[in-house]
Amino acid sequence: MAETIFSKIIRRGIPADIVYEDTRCLAFRDINPQAPTHILIIPKEELEGLQAAAPQHEQLLGHLLLVAARLAEQEGIAAAGYRCAINAGPEGGQTVCHLHVHLLGGRQMEWPPG
Ligand code: AMP
Repeated sequence: MAETIFSKIIRRGIPADIVYEDTRCLAFRDINPQAPTHILIIPKEELEGLQAAAPQHEQLLGHLLLVAARLAEQEGIAAAGYRCAINAGPEGGQTVCHLHVHLLGGRQMEWPPG
């Protein structure tokens, strides 16, 4: 599998505005933010997307969402509300083939997302 831009960020091959890191994941600000807060939470393990997740990823997936909730608190958007989104595959709008949770907030979200 070709190295993705997110793998390069994990190994510090390219810069990113990193806001959180632990042994399992990394979180950094999206380069093209769609809301005042737009953070991507990614596993350090290479996982193509939610469509490639298997039972052994259950804890990791839960961890990514809990980190998102913690970051929402940290960003001051938890009380007002926020959105977590995972785009999976081409029709899901996924453009980077490394699983990532979008944390978006700081403005009113709309539905359907388009
Ligand atoms: P998706 O369309 O769900 O695959 O989301 C990929 C996201 O990665 C987009 O919101 C991009 O703006 C973001 N992105 C791409 N390259 C970078 C980068 N070098 N640093 C931060 N965010 C990036």
